[in-house]
Amino acid sequence: MGSDVQNKMNALAQKWDGFLGKVEGRVQAVIAETNEGLDQLIAQHAIDHGPMGAAFGALKARFHGLSSKVGDAWAKIDGEIDEVRGDDGFTSADYGAVSAVRDAMHDKYSKMIDDLALHREHIEMSKNADWARRLQLLAQEEAGKGVPCSQCGTPMLVENLDCGGPQKCGSCGAVNNVLPEAASALFYRGTGVRALANEQCWQYVLAERDAKAQFDRKRHPTAYDHRAYLKAAHEKFTAYYQAGVAIYPKFTDDVTAAVEAKMKHYSAWDREVDKQKRELFGRIVEASSTGDVAGLDALVGNLPNFVGFDECIECLVERRHYPAAEYLFGKKYSMKGEGVAKARWVVSKLAEMKRFLGSD
Ligand SMILES: [Zn+2]
Repeated sequence: MGSDVQNKMNALAQKWDGFLGKVEGRVQAVIAETNEGLDQLIAQHAIDHGPMGAAFGALKARFHGLSSKVGDAWAKIDGEIDEVRGDDGFTSADYGAVSAVRDAMHDKYSKMIDDLALHREHIEMSKNADWARRLQLLAQEEAGKGVPCSQCGTPMLVENLDCGGPQKCGSCGAVNNVLPEAASALFYRGTGVRALANEQCWQYVLAERDAKAQFDRKRHPTAYDHRAYLKAAHEKFTAYYQAGVAIYPKFTDDVTAAVEAKMKHYSAWDREVDKQKRELFGRIVEASSTGDVAGLDALVGNLPNFVGFDECIECLVERRHYPAAEYLFGKKYSMKGEGVAKARWVVSKLAEMKRFLGSD
């Protein structure tokens, strides 16, 4: 890259790093302030759903504000990169070099957006769990002090303060219809148990996040990739409901059924055609892995109308199955009757696709 272009790109990359560093500092400050503010609210207003809800809403808004700021800054710096590209004497060699610098900057941008979402989820999870611990304590106090009988005023020790119900007074025999008190209602029926269960399965939440990112990163995911993602989700919900039942046995009657109900959301929007694609790509990758040339020939020789020949090659290249990809490029060459020598054509096509898919 020309030294002038080089200097300009270095300056932009440095500016971007400086900006991201400032955002990172801001995030740490927001987290510290959130911790402090919510700890105070939890200590003083744990049973006031209003202020607690408002505080969590404000937290969301602050992180949303940071994400927008990062997005705006990226749009601005990307515009400045475009200006460098428009300079007089900008060469095609410069173009590749500038793109590489821009890609690295964009990766940092994506990572920052991702980190912001994760920071927000983490602090929401941990503060909700702190709130739940406070509610649990207050619920135990409510249960300990009993509920006065509506007829004679004698405090009754209520067995089902979590959900309420009929309770016979031991003193006068009147049957009271007892409602759960504020902390009990919030802990058992509101956010409490859910928040503690969520905290306990946090490592599974992270594992599902990773599995989803891996699945989304694939241009042509296979049935295996999809199963790995669903498996992580299944493990998360299982851990969640098991933790919930351990804290509060009435959390769910049936862990398996509760997990299955959650898993239905994962298949509800899954289109049949995507499912068939994943299965086909899975068989192609399998044929490549086992060196089954005849199997590969049969699969690509009989593609359904919703899968292109190039997509099959892309699917192999993004998994670095280069020999099978070269083999398919060879088939494509023969089909098209290209003018240049076959070996050279295959090598150049593969190199082009590797660059396109970033799989080098
Ligand atoms: Zn009574």
